[in-house]
Amino acid sequence: MASPLNAVVTGSTSGIGLGIATAFAAEGWNVMLNGFGDPDEIEGVRAGLEEKHGVKVLYNGADMTKPEEIREMIAEAETAFGQLDILVNNAGIQHVSPVEDFPEEKWDAILAINLSSAFHTIKAAFAGMKARKFGRIINTASAHALVASPFKTAYVAAKHGILGLTKTVALEGAEHGVTCNAICPGYVRTPLVEKQIPDTAKARGMTEDEVIQKVILEAQPTKQFVTVEQIGALAVFLCSDNAAQITGAAHEMDGGWTAQ
Ligand code: NAD
Repeated sequence: MASPLNAVVTGSTSGIGLGIATAFAAEGWNVMLNGFGDPDEIEGVRAGLEEKHGVKVLYNGADMTKPEEIREMIAEAETAFGQLDILVNNAGIQHVSPVEDFPEEKWDAILAINLSSAFHTIKAAFAGMKARKFGRIINTASAHALVASPFKTAYVAAKHGILGLTKTVALEGAEHGVTCNAICPGYVRTPLVEKQIPDTAKARGMTEDEVIQKVILEAQPTKQFVTVEQIGALAVFLCSDNAAQITGAAHEMDGGWTAQ
């Protein structure tokens, strides 16, 4: 294992991706951030991580719906770091609506960002990892990669799809030192979850507080949200030498949700 490792984390200007990028930087690993947001805030996060942890932190604003921009982002990381060792496919969006009203453009966007972007990043990064006999690919899936909830057709379909991609890439990397795993979080209190509370309330005819208690935390037997720090720690472990034999697996971190 090279030291320091060099990582790209998609969708890391916020939430889980930022938690993973922060955990990587704390390990002394270089990170390329990606995602949308206010340019000044993103620069503050980038410079802050760099200064606190003494690592190289870059930012590339590639839109995960655009394969050409994705290819350029991976190429930029390889050039800037010298090599890419870790790829975390984390960017994702959600839309909550009954299937009969589900907007077609939302279906297309969710499939593109939550599933196809991971194919494009992996396609661009895989040859280099194989040639160097080391690579760690982590896909942020979801409990919704294993079980469904109503009103989330596109999200559940994309997350089930990313487990198939994870397993296939794991098999292709198995003899080349390249592992590919999925992390399947339950509910994490990020902007993605905050934003769906009003829509879920509308779709189910509930108040927003009822959604948190009866829908969100109802699904999670521990009745607690997963934290981004806990997910970051699992991602760090999956990149370690001790995780070399863990590949093609779905790692649930969901407070017991999918045990039911
Ligand atoms: P978030 O909204 O906090 O972060 C999403 C990130 O993706 C942001 O950085 C955003 O800018 C970026 N992004 C969105 N569209 C993009 C695009 N077209 N191109 C590039 N970047 C884009 O959400 P989060 O909760 O941290 O979600 C991160 C991942 O975790 C998603 O894949 C999500 O499905 C998954 N997940 C979240 C939860 C949860 O409860 N929050 C649970 C399971 C899985």
